[in-house]
This record gives sequence, C-alpha cells and structure tokens, in this order.
Amino acid sequence: MKIDGYELNYSEEQLDFMLKKQMRSVELVSKDFDGYKSLSEGDKKALEHLVNAAYLINDVALEQDNPLNLKLKEGLERASLKSTHAEKALELFNSLNGVIGYNGIDQEPIRIFKEISLLPGRNFYPNDMSVEEFHRILIEMGKRGEIDEIRKILSARTMVRRSGKSLKAIDYTEYFASVFAEIAQELEAAAYYCTEPAFKEYLKWQIEALRQNNPDMDMLADKSWAALQDTCLEFTISRENYEDEITGTVYDNPDIIKLLGEYNINVVAKDTLGCRVGIVNKQATEKILISKKMLPSLATWMPYKEQYVQHNVDEDNLKQTMVDVDLIALTGDYAMCRGGITAAQNLPNNDKISVQTGGGRRNVYHRQIRFSRDEEREQKLLEKLVDPTLHAYVDKSEIIVFVIGHENGHSLGPGSSYQNSLGMYKHIIEEHKANVISIASITEIAKKTNDFNRERLRKIYTSWIVGNLFLRAKPFLSQPHRVADLIEFNYLLESKAIWFDDAKKMHIDFDIIGSTMYKLLEETIRVQLSKSVEVASEFINRWATWGEWPRYIAGIQQELGSKPYIKIITNF
Ligand SMILES: [Zn+2]
Repeated sequence: MKIDGYELNYSEEQLDFMLKKQMRSVELVSKDFDGYKSLSEGDKKALEHLVNAAYLINDVALEQDNPLNLKLKEGLERASLKSTHAEKALELFNSLNGVIGYNGIDQEPIRIFKEISLLPGRNFYPNDMSVEEFHRILIEMGKRGEIDEIRKILSARTMVRRSGKSLKAIDYTEYFASVFAEIAQELEAAAYYCTEPAFKEYLKWQIEALRQNNPDMDMLADKSWAALQDTCLEFTISRENYEDEITGTVYDNPDIIKLLGEYNINVVAKDTLGCRVGIVNKQATEKILISKKMLPSLATWMPYKEQYVQHNVDEDNLKQTMVDVDLIALTGDYAMCRGGITAAQNLPNNDKISVQTGGGRRNVYHRQIRFSRDEEREQKLLEKLVDPTLHAYVDKSEIIVFVIGHENGHSLGPGSSYQNSLGMYKHIIEEHKANVISIASITEIAKKTNDFNRERLRKIYTSWIVGNLFLRAKPFLSQPHRVADLIEFNYLLESKAIWFDDAKKMHIDFDIIGSTMYKLLEETIRVQLSKSVEVASEFINRWATWGEWPRYIAGIQQELGSKPYIKIITNF
C-alpha cells in the first residue's frame, strides 16, 4: 500500500504483531482526575491553552526530525479513514512520533515507509549533504570571512539550508515564525487565566522567547522556569540536542577546529523541542523535598568525609527545585518513544546559557510513566526468579524513593576533580556511587526518622533489586548504569544479602542490605579518592563479572521478551 507515493514497510499482519504483542501503553490523566478537579477555574482554563500549545510544539518537533514527517502523518491520517492497514501504520508512527526511529532493541531503525532512511542531520541540515561536504563548505565560508554565519550554523537554535555555494542558518523564531506565533498566543491566554504569579511570570518570558530572535529571552524563561517549586501547573518546553549527529562532527576536522579557536566560535548541537503539560502533585512532591532536606546530615554520614569537601550539599541544591507531576500531555521530543520514555528529567542542560550564567535546575518526575509498566511480564519474572514470600514486596510506587536517593547521591561524596580523574571509568563509578548512597542512606534515614517503617523499607529494597539489578543482557562498558547494577548485584550475592535456593528462586536478608551497601560505599569512595584509573579498573573487573546468576537471569529475561513500543494515551 502506498501513501503519497511512499510504500508502507510492514504488512498488516506484521503491524498487528507489533501493536498487540510488542506495545505497552502509558495512560495520562483525564479531567476526572482528582488533582484536576481541585484546580481553580482559572487554572483549568489555563490548562486548555497549555495543551493546545503542546500539540503545536509537536508539529515543530516533527518538522525538525524528518522532512517527510508532517506530510506523511497527514497522508496516514487521511488513508486511515478507509484502510485498517494505514490506521495501524499511523499507530506505529505515533509511537515513534516520526517516520523512522530506533526501537531500542533492533540494530536497524524501524521505518514506517520502505524508501525512508535515517538522516544524520535530521531535518536541521540539507537532506542531501554529507559530513564531508558540510566540512568543506564551512572551511570555504571561513576563507570568505563569513564568520557570523558559521556561528549561527553551529548554534543550537537554527535550521540550516543551502544558499548557492554557502549554507545559511535560519533562527527557529524565523523558520517556525507562524507556528511560534500561535504557540505564543496560546501561552498568552494561559498566562491571562492562570492564578499563580510565578507561573505567569515564567509564561511571559517564554512568550518573548518564542517571539524574539534573542537567546537572552530563552535564558530568562529558563531561569524563571527552573525556580518554580510551589506552583500547581506544570508546563515545560524542553530543548535537548541528542538527535543531531552532524554538528558535533566539526571536532573531527583539524582545519575547522582551528577556525573555531581563531574566532572563538561556540558549537552546540541542534535542539529538538518537546512539551510537557501536567499538574504538580503536592503531596508526592513534599516527600521528594524531605529527602533534599536530609542532605546536610547525610553529608556528615558519608565515609571518609574528612578527606574531601562536599560542595553540592548547600549552595547548588538551593538552586535545584524538584516536583512530582501527574501528566496531561507529552509531545514532541518527549513523545518520540524510540527505545524508551523518560521517567524523570533535570533541566536545563549544561549547554544552556541560563545554567552557564548561574541559573538553577528543575527536576520533574513523571508519575504516570513510573506507574505504567508491563505488569503481566513482571509477574512472570517474579514467578520464575523470586521466592513467593517476597512477591508482595514488589511495589512500583516505591521506585521513586530509590530514584530520589540516587539523584541526591550525586550531590554527596568527593567532587568532580576526583570523579574525572578516573578517566573512562568515571561514569560507572559515579553512577554506582549514587545507587549505593541511595540504598544505604534510605536505611540510615529509616533508623532516624519515621518516614520509612520496616515494611516500606522491604518494599524499597525488593523493588530495587528486582526492578534494577535483574539485567537483560551483559552490559557494555559504555552503559555505566547497567555496569553499576551488575556490580551491586554481585556484591549483594557475595555478601549473602541475597541468595538463590535449589529451586533457583531469590531470597533477601533484609537485615543486612543497608550495612552491606554502606560497606560497598566505603570501597567505592576509596576508588574515587584514589584518583587512579588503575584502581577503578581493578574494582570494576573485580565486581562487574558476568557470572552464573546474572547469566541465568538474563536468559529468563530474554525468554520473557520485551515490549519496545510505547503508546501514550492522552485523555484530556
Ligand atoms: Zn545518575
């Protein structure tokens, strides 16, 4: 079957299999949700406009991602009125939020249409331009003195097109002028209705950022957004640059590197826009903030604390806001579910001016994504690998406690000069440290406060071990989080904090999980304090072994299969 001249890549049977057997759904909240009903009338009205803005931003992201996205989405929508085949292809399109993208499992990208291939420069750059040609043109432009244009071409906020023998950069505010104007209008209406001054203030800057070709407006919008802590509405326009594979290649070319240095040109990959709308869950957010308040006392609990200064515990954290959000809409980059969907996000990223000029960050946790998991598969996994007495302790709503502990863990311990001296192993050791701090500190907090009773602590431990440490495959060194999980699994196993019985079912010794993790934390901090690549490498070789049990678990995981596609169900 053809849509606008492009042949569908999958038969209806293949699509049936992908949609029915390989897709899971994430359901966002509706107007029946209590948190929505309790909003003021003004904030409810504001939400309508914020959601409209979110869908407009989706069109921007589709245009940035692939030149055929908008046209073929429309074609699929038209064809699906008459054809179930097209309807199913549209559902797969909506999951990838594009005509092509990886699914996180297959080596080759999933393409909705036969003729389409993945463009390294997405639609940010001319579609027929190779990396070699890009470099050649930049060098020629340099010789002709077109430095200002080169600066714009290598910035995060331009679409680049051919212009004779040169390239020209079009600022997003110009390339997307008409849709940005519509978005700004929606935000203006939202700002009019919403009841909270701080949120209104943020929207005001965001509107200016959409209307003016002026990065300072983005900076001001980012700064006021990052400071939002007590508002009830959540609205984010995300700008992250993981898609563009062309801009960064200039660092492979010595002639261009020379040019960059000579004229002090800043290189940042292109931002893809995403949009998130939701309602801040105040009760759940309160819980997150409790752990933030614990940081100063945890700093004194850290091993070898007298040997380093813990910088992050005070100043930086004052500039870190955190909220737990019930989601209403996810569009653009957020909805490009290409191998996963993000469960929490800390923005702005380091490449943004607001952060470089002292602005804070805001960490937003996504409740509906955390809650939506493949329950049938999880149950089967438990039956195969975990002693039945532990099944009741697996509780996905407790995973947030571990995640928060992990994020806080990055703020504790030796600073970046220690971390960076471990070279290629720095990420593994740092992520591992954050995990271990999380579990050990939760145990410590439980001893001192009433926040976690015995049952709850057991749920946190069990959910963490089953949810994170049961790996699906042997991790590569380039997967720091997974290597860290493997280290912790092996350490627990060797310390007999977990063990497997003759029926190959796991048991947990709850009484020693906390102390075992604190011992491991001591060893981990010693590795960072050593500033030695060799010590780090020895530690990883010692603990990240792919032994009998990780192998057995991965075998079961593979047997159970997985669901790489995600359907976001919007009910608003
Ligand atoms: Zn981390």
